[in-house]
Amino acid sequence: MAQDLKIGIIGCGAIGKDHCRRIIQTVPGATVVAVSDYVAAAADETAALYGIRSFGNDCDGMIKDPEVEAVVITSIDPTHHDYVMKVLAEKKWCFCEKPLSQNAKDCEEIMAKELEIGKKMVQVGFMRRYDRGYAEMKRIIESGEIGRPILIKAAHRNVSQGPGFKTENGVTNVAIHELDICRWLLGEEYKDVQCVRVRQSANSNKGYDNPQVMLMRTQNDCFIDVEVQVADGYGYDIQCEVVCENGTVKLPDPYAVVRRSRPDVTKDPGETMPIMTDWKERFIEAYDIEMCEWVKSVHAGQLTGPSSWDGYVACVAGDALNASRGTSEFLPVKTIEKPELYK
Ligand code: NAP
Repeated sequence: MAQDLKIGIIGCGAIGKDHCRRIIQTVPGATVVAVSDYVAAAADETAALYGIRSFGNDCDGMIKDPEVEAVVITSIDPTHHDYVMKVLAEKKWCFCEKPLSQNAKDCEEIMAKELEIGKKMVQVGFMRRYDRGYAEMKRIIESGEIGRPILIKAAHRNVSQGPGFKTENGVTNVAIHELDICRWLLGEEYKDVQCVRVRQSANSNKGYDNPQVMLMRTQNDCFIDVEVQVADGYGYDIQCEVVCENGTVKLPDPYAVVRRSRPDVTKDPGETMPIMTDWKERFIEAYDIEMCEWVKSVHAGQLTGPSSWDGYVACVAGDALNASRGTSEFLPVKTIEKPELYK
């Protein structure tokens, strides 16, 4: 492989620090040369850990620095679009954590810039596509062995949310993963969507809806039902079952070990299985593969992972879900025509 790809990271929070560790310690062909964050001290702290450059809060300066060949964006959701546009202005490679933006219009601007450059420059952090469970489900669905998919039943449950979380972020920040993975699993596009308010959990008295149920119908009438809990009070629990004509495929639980025991032997009698609380652990292998594949594709000069188009489609469906809340109607998912670059 050619020289290591020299990466700069914007945002040294939970996943920024994790990707920094991942790239430096486990991803061949790449290294992190610089970090930055809205709060200079956060960047300084991460930089000191690995002996790399800190640009403090000068994220724009880091993007422009000649040593930085590619930028990983792990700052908060509302900042993604502006940083991606700045990275593209420098014609540098970009890995942007999900969501690409919080609305479809912003994503159109990003695609327009890529089209102007004439090349896909951005990969979006839809890492579930690299999870072995989802990949095997897709393989079985595509084999046709169990017939055509009819329904998807999915759940995305998070333990809790930080301050400032709003009902619409249940779509833009949380269900955005399902919006991507369901169309990827099926190889079908959305026709219309509806967000339904259901009985509220006692954990949700914090100014946002919890749970919400999101319904999507594809152009071939596959029906998708996603339960989104953003404060479930027990764990990080991701579920997905695809019901086909002659069978079903289901995402495996991350821990396969089920313990059965007597009450006098253990304080956990009956049948027990550990439940994870940390998304970093749940999808650790997928994040590792995702980053390795992105770096490999940058070296090859041709990005192969989830593109700006995929980030855009998820946002179009997300915009419609948020607009449908309270209407009791399915709203259409209308995308622009897919540019040749993304076909
Ligand atoms: P986090 O812990 O809050 O980290 C975000 C960091 O960005 C914080 O250090 C924050 O500083 C900083 N920041 C805020 N505004 C900024 C700005 N204008 N410029 C530069 N930095 C800024 O959040 P996180 O959990 O790491 O999530 C970061 C991003 O990754 C989010 O977009 C999230 O959706 C995404 N994510 C994706 C996955 C996945 O499964 N693919 C998982 C987790 C997160 P302050 O603390 O001072 O605000």
